[in-house]
Amino acid sequence: MERTLIRDIPTKEGEEIILKGWVDTRRDHGKLIFIDLRDRTGIAQVVLKDAVEHAGDIRNEDVIELRGSVKARPEGMVNEKLPNHLGHYEVQASAFSFLNRRAGEGLPVPLEGDGYDVNEEVRMQYRYVDLRRARLQKNLRNRSKATQFIRNFLAERDFTEVETPILTKSTPEGARDYLVPSRLYHGKFYALPQAPQQYKQLLMVAGLERYFQIARCFRDEDTRGDRQPEFTQLDLEMSFVAREDVMALNEELLIALVETLYPGKRIQEKPFPRLSYTDVVKKYGTDRPDLRADKNDPNLLAFAWIIDFPFFERVPPVRPERSRGMSPSTDSPQTSKEVWTFTHNPFSAPKPEFMADLLAGKNVGDILTSQYDVVLNGWEIGGGSIRNHESRALEAVFNILGFTAERIKANFGHMLEALSLGAPPHGGIAWGLDRVVMLLENEPNIREVIAFPKTGDGRDPMMDSPSEVEKEQLEELGLEIKKKKR
Ligand code: ASP
Repeated sequence: MERTLIRDIPTKEGEEIILKGWVDTRRDHGKLIFIDLRDRTGIAQVVLKDAVEHAGDIRNEDVIELRGSVKARPEGMVNEKLPNHLGHYEVQASAFSFLNRRAGEGLPVPLEGDGYDVNEEVRMQYRYVDLRRARLQKNLRNRSKATQFIRNFLAERDFTEVETPILTKSTPEGARDYLVPSRLYHGKFYALPQAPQQYKQLLMVAGLERYFQIARCFRDEDTRGDRQPEFTQLDLEMSFVAREDVMALNEELLIALVETLYPGKRIQEKPFPRLSYTDVVKKYGTDRPDLRADKNDPNLLAFAWIIDFPFFERVPPVRPERSRGMSPSTDSPQTSKEVWTFTHNPFSAPKPEFMADLLAGKNVGDILTSQYDVVLNGWEIGGGSIRNHESRALEAVFNILGFTAERIKANFGHMLEALSLGAPPHGGIAWGLDRVVMLLENEPNIREVIAFPKTGDGRDPMMDSPSEVEKEQLEELGLEIKKKKR
């Protein structure tokens, strides 16, 4: 006989079925043992006579298989709280067997309740148990639905999903890179991508016209609630578009995503308001304002676009780590105490009316970028821009940043060359997908919507990572570890 999934029990009244799953709870009532059996589709009440062999040994989280018949529960015993009418039925088991018994006296992670108050170290060490709780099951399944929705939406609009390299090159972009030592070329390193920015632009030069990727990004920053060493972006890029085209497509996608998958949520304002950076900073003191009219409403979504950011800002010459943007130049010939850096992305184009100033390196502080950020309830959930598709404009950005010709060539020579070999006008955006799902699921941090996140201090206690490696592995890589001075 084939296995029946728990969600299909209501269609099998009076029939003999086989169920497989985990024992969620067990309650003894005299000669009867009640089990809540759980599979990926739901929870069913199973009644076993204690005379059934080994029934008395069943413990929660044992994995079992059982045979029984589906009965309507007597009136008064109906549980309306279970979804899919499951509370109207129970399974009277005639036989069962253990597929695997759970070891130990208790579970390392309690599964009752939502789990927010359980020690994080323990949750992460036994993440595969922690993930069995209903809240996290829902988060992972809904995240998968969101990703699928995005894929279908973009595929229908002629976007091509392309994977870009994970082993790439260290360039002086915003955050610190994760480095991977090369075995074949001692002393040389790959870097894990902070974002697929350059590759997606190169795909536009390659003529793809419409690209997207659910892309993993890596930034070696101190972790926080909404930061992880690795996180996921919906990354996309389009050719022959202006700022409003990219914003309109993403707005349509965000609205469709919410209205299809989260019909209980309400979008405060459509179309999303477009607010200038100067105005929001003046009014709210931040460039990611929480615009909700009622901040107690967990189902209210206040999206907005923030536009017209300054392209450049003055900063001290050495700043070890920034959340975004490229580290300011340290090889600048300028002797002044402060140098220019960009506020978002060096590859962005200025707004068209500032192109002449950019090319001339004039009135640098007044140049506005084509950058657009999308904010939701006080969080920045995405950002992008129209890019400089002519090499002289990108070169002008690097000149303003004070980069020497050698540095420009070493780090960005390939980009400048690509832009001179038939690059179409293009622009794009990236969303922080973990953040979007976190907000839609009303979760307090992105770790609750990532299957295997790192702890707040960047470790994986389950795999024990990061960890030391064998001496031979270091030798192959030509590396030696310096003992940390205490
Ligand atoms: N690559 C940018 C980022 O990761 C987003 C973009 O401009 O498309 O922030």
